[in-house]
Order: sequence, then structure tokens, then C-alpha cells
Amino acid sequence: GDLLSARTLAGGFEGVAQQVHGAPLAYLDNAATTHMPRTVRDAMAAFEQESRANIHRGVHTLSQRATDAFEQARARLKRFIGAGAQHELVFTSGTTESLNLVAGGLSDAALALPVLRAGDEIVTTALEHHANLVPWQWAARRSGARLLVLRPDAAGRLHPDDLAQLLGPRTRVFALTACANATGERPPYEALLALAAEAGALTVLDAAQAMAHEVPQLAQLECDFLAFSGHKMYGPMGIGVLAGRRAALERLAPSRLGGDMVEWVSESDAGLAELPARLEGGTPNVAGAVGLAAAADYIDVVGRDAIDAHVRALRAHAVQRLAALPGVTVLAPHANASAIVSFVADGAHPHDIGTLLDAHGIAVRTGHHCAQPLLACLGVGPTTRASFAIYNTHEEVERLAEAVAHALEVLR
Ligand code: PMP
Repeated sequence: GDLLSARTLAGGFEGVAQQVHGAPLAYLDNAATTHMPRTVRDAMAAFEQESRANIHRGVHTLSQRATDAFEQARARLKRFIGAGAQHELVFTSGTTESLNLVAGGLSDAALALPVLRAGDEIVTTALEHHANLVPWQWAARRSGARLLVLRPDAAGRLHPDDLAQLLGPRTRVFALTACANATGERPPYEALLALAAEAGALTVLDAAQAMAHEVPQLAQLECDFLAFSGHKMYGPMGIGVLAGRRAALERLAPSRLGGDMVEWVSESDAGLAELPARLEGGTPNVAGAVGLAAAADYIDVVGRDAIDAHVRALRAHAVQRLAALPGVTVLAPHANASAIVSFVADGAHPHDIGTLLDAHGIAVRTGHHCAQPLLACLGVGPTTRASFAIYNTHEEVERLAEAVAHALEVLR
């Protein structure tokens, strides 16, 4: 605890150390975007000042420095996610682009043999963010495949037995979240991915909500594709990753066609470059990649286990305080959920609760959290969501609970 708070204070999160409406900001919207420590901002500023140039094409010194910085960031992030020799890592703009690249790349009609074809089956779950659902809806439409959705129980949990019912000889893809952004539920993704892989499916893990505290280790998972975003793990916006088995990434049609992703080009055709360049057409976000690698360093200096224990303790504290308020229902209240607490309150609209909390300097998110099917499954409408990061405190959880109680009195 002490070690964690000392390191957090030393982190220099100026963005959360400010006043909002005359109160100290309690920034509890970390599932949407976390703030960046000073080391990340410094690493990006140093890159821009000393090494800014386009990569891979230049013989001059700055271009070489930029190329080295980009490739070192790739190597650092591969280590961070426990990639093995069989894995490769591609930079994207974020989880949304990563998942679109997979769904689009498996169903692209320009491929001689796209993975997804008429009569095939795609399985995803009702816990997903729209970014891990809508691309599959379109992939199904493009290819003539069928989309099946694994539903949770009434408490919002997924069960391997239910997945086994949906898998069959035509299952080509199983796409799953490592943590549901609307409830904080952490499904047993190790077992679910293994089951789908055993059935012969390519497996996709959306780790957007896991990377800041519970970093999935690729080489220990039956995972072909892993997607995440920098801005949810103390890194910059506009950078993300698609990592996975090289053999699986090779089956994707590229979506960014142009410079740097080809070996040769004639008027009528082009030969694609090897991975990872093949999937990284155009000028990448080099400063973003540098910042993301610095964010990985930051997480490892503080300690993944310490961060995970901290956000879980904050979540448990918030669940206990919020669930005790009259007419409040916490979604997925059980202990295996992490970092996110989402609730509904009788007689009070989340938008109004969120507005009243903001007046007290407390930042939460309200609405459907880009996860409408999950909320429909659980039989609720929009929710109020608080989500925690390393710099949050138990005192902020107390302020949240008191401000929610006050808001409910005003609104009822
Ligand atoms: N998946 C999950 C589980 C998320 O929480 C989010 C962001 N809310 C996304 C995907 C999309 O990430 P991004 O907006 O960074 O592309």
C-alpha cells in the first residue's frame, strides 16, 4: 500500500491533480481513458524533440533514430504481453481498429481464400463492447457466415458449458472480452479461449479493459489475436496494438493499403511485405508507440500485482458502499469482477446522477457504455459507472458514495 502510493505520487499525474468546480477532482472514468504519468509524457516529448522523422525509408540519422524508437517500442510491448517466438505485434490506432482489422481481414472478398465463408459460424458474447460486436456483424454480412452470441447468466457471468453448446464444426472465430467494460465482469477467458481453440476456431481477445492492471500473457493463452488501446493503460490516445500468432496474422487481408506495406508494385498488382509491415501501411504514430512502451515500463515499475490488488480493493469498497444505498442495484457485484463498478438507481436517471457528481468534482461515465446488448440481457437501461486506476484512493470512493446518496435525495 505505502509503496504503491509513494510510486503513484512520484508518477506526476498532473491531469488528475486539479480542481473541478472548486473541489479536488476525483477522476473515476478510467475505463474510458486513464491519465498519463510524467514518464510517458517525457518519453513522447523527447522523441518529438530529438528523433522526429518518418521511419523505415530514410538513410539520415533522425529517420534511423525514429525507426529504432518504433522497433524498440514493439520489442518492449512484446515482452510486456508475454509474446513468444511464434507471435508478432502490429501497431494500430487502438482496440477498435485492431478488432476491425481482424474481422475485416478474415472476411475480405479480395482474398483468394478468406477465412470466413458462407455457412461458417462466428461466436462472440453479449458482454462485448460494440467494437467487438459490430465488426463481426459486418463480417457475417460480407461473408454469409452466421453470428452466434454467447449470453451471460442473470448475474452477468459467462459459462464454458454454454459456450460448448454454441461451438461446432463450422465455428471459425470466437471473439471475447477479457473484462466487460459495462460491468467489470472478468470472464474465465483462459478456459473459454481454450475450448474454442479445441473446436478449431481462431480466437480473439479484446484486452482493452485488462491491460492497465491484469495483463494477459499471450504465450500462456490459446489466443490468436489480442487487441488493446494505449489510452486505457496510462499511455497516449491514438495508439493501440493487434498482437497474435504470426500464422494467424498472416491470414488477414491488410486494411491500410499503400506505402510501406508492399515489396513491389506494378500498375496492376502489388506484392505484400512481410509482417508486421504488411498490416502497418502509411505513416504510423511513432510518438504514440514510444509513449505506449513507456506506459508499459511505468506499469512494471509500480508492479502489475500491486495495481491489480489496489483497483480490486477500490472496487470492492465501492460495491459495498453503493449497494447499501436504498434502491441501488450494482451490476455484477461478485468478487471476480475488477476495476469497474456500474449501478442503476430507482427513480434517478444516470445522466442526472453524473451531472450532480460532476458538480462535486467527481468524474463518472453514464449511459450504455457502448454495450447495449449486455445491458439488455441484464434487463437494465443506462447505468452510472465508476472505474478505478492507480491514482484513485479509498477517500475518493467515500466521496463517490456520499455524493451518490446526496444526488439520490435531490433527484427522488
Ligand atoms: N473494447 C472494450 C472492452 C472497451 O472498453 C473499449 C473502450 N471503451 C474498446 C473496446 C474500444 O477501445 P478504443 O475506443 O480505444 O478503440
